Amino acid sequence: MTFRSGRHFLQLPGPTNVPDRILRAMDRPPIDHRGPEFGEMVKGILTGLKELFRASEHVFVYPASGSGSWEAALVNTLSVGDRVVRFDGGHFSETWGTVAEALGLTVDVLPCDWRRPVDSTALEEHLNADEGHEIKAVLLTHNETSTGVKNDIQGVRTAIDQASHPALLMVDAVSSLCAMELLHDEWGVDVTITGSQKGLMLPPGLSFAAVSRKALEAHERAGLARYYWDWTAILASNERGFFPYTPATNLLYGLEEALSMLREEGLANTLRRHDRLAKATRAAVAAWGLENFCLEESGFSSAQTTVKMPDGTDADALRKIILERFDMSLGSGLGKLKGQVFRIGHLGDINELTVAGTLCGVEMGLKMAGVPHRPGGVGAALEVWSTEGGGA
Ligand SMILES: *Cc1c(COP(=O)(O)O)cnc(C)c1O
Repeated sequence: MTFRSGRHFLQLPGPTNVPDRILRAMDRPPIDHRGPEFGEMVKGILTGLKELFRASEHVFVYPASGSGSWEAALVNTLSVGDRVVRFDGGHFSETWGTVAEALGLTVDVLPCDWRRPVDSTALEEHLNADEGHEIKAVLLTHNETSTGVKNDIQGVRTAIDQASHPALLMVDAVSSLCAMELLHDEWGVDVTITGSQKGLMLPPGLSFAAVSRKALEAHERAGLARYYWDWTAILASNERGFFPYTPATNLLYGLEEALSMLREEGLANTLRRHDRLAKATRAAVAAWGLENFCLEESGFSSAQTTVKMPDGTDADALRKIILERFDMSLGSGLGKLKGQVFRIGHLGDINELTVAGTLCGVEMGLKMAGVPHRPGGVGAALEVWSTEGGGA
């Protein structure tokens, strides 16, 4: 291994950079997870999570990556043979569908353009056609991390309501929570899931599911086999600040610190910071003469920008040069986008200068890799932040 000075730039849309404060908070011995000190800590964390998700019922915490909450959302609310519907919006919505099929659910897929937000009119028509209400849940990815397209949760909620359909609305907010507004109760979401390693600034290893009263009621009737993910058992333990099994104690130390940091900044400011960093990143991409993979402004993501490579150039060759020369990791193209795009993560513990450094690395990489582009992307980003309003 070559020695690398300075910090590695982890500019993926997850895992994201973990702040020193969180690393330090985790650097403590685990305590008795059935003792009084632990119970008090967890009660505080659960209250903090409800504030963060804007969810008044409950937020479940699992020692699992984000995928664990995909499974938890389904097994706790549905029964074998139930139908669910998802949009074909990208790699992550596809994978959630694969999880559903593996559990014995029937998955309807609504075709989509991967470069645009999902079409809620198509959903409304699909639900109208389901007169017998066989469809039990709508699965939606808020920020489709493979494409960098943000979907309109409220639009999807409205489509379900227009069709007067009782299906649950389940939202994958793994890469959007803390980067883009998400009001679980107010927007009528039934299950919102997320993971620890993106906007929450933690290492990988925790996942979350905020639930509605309606989701808890569906849970009473749901027949899918479950044990580890079971809400009933967890709810009973959570009342005293405990879990039915050994939790990831050190990640919970980190989570407690992350919630403090988010409270100090104020969530509205956190969201504005992400908007500002995203806006300047898009300005850089446009100045380079490259294409934002997302073609519609309403779908622009504040968590990441996905850049489409000019035809005949390879995103992975570019990422390799940037990693080897500048010690920076960028996101790769997933699934059918392999080699065609790269993804710049701008979420979590970052600021203008972090993103400026990131864009410098990309601009130098483009030149070194011989990718046709115009110089001046970095300058365009700096211009956004240094003019009146600072990109806000
Ligand atoms: C990262 C991510 C996941 C998967 O999470 P894992 O922690 O890798 O299991 C799911 N959905 C979205 C939208 C993601 O960005």
